[in-house]
Amino acid sequence: MKARLAWLIAGLMVVHGVSLALAANLAEKVKVELESTERHAGMEPGTYVCAAGHLHVRGTVQNLADVPLGPIKVAGRALDSAGKVLGTATASTEQRKLSPGAKAGFDLEFVTVTGPRIQQVKKHEIKVVDAPVAR
Ligand SMILES: [Zn+2]
Repeated sequence: MKARLAWLIAGLMVVHGVSLALAANLAEKVKVELESTERHAGMEPGTYVCAAGHLHVRGTVQNLADVPLGPIKVAGRALDSAGKVLGTATASTEQRKLSPGAKAGFDLEFVTVTGPRIQQVKKHEIKVVDAPVAR
């Protein structure tokens, strides 16, 4: 009886290890695109300033894996022309489950990028940091 329980626990640990490895790989199976349909004067595609004065970057993620994923978490950095980081932000898709091929929107809010700092932003780097298999 005891031996059987030990085997079960060992089995669960192996499964857990596999799912962690999978999760790390699936972030690369998500394509990130910035919203390019709306453009604001003097600003990059997908960016806007909200009522509270923060820089926001809006875009979409697409599930390129062959299993449902979600929620997908993205992280962004706003950089100036010298490559200095002006602000960071993270966001998750509102949709908790994306079927293979499906897209979902995200909205990164850079709360430290306000006022004159917004004009200093020359580049964003946006990447997927978490793309778990959806349950
Ligand atoms: Zn805001």
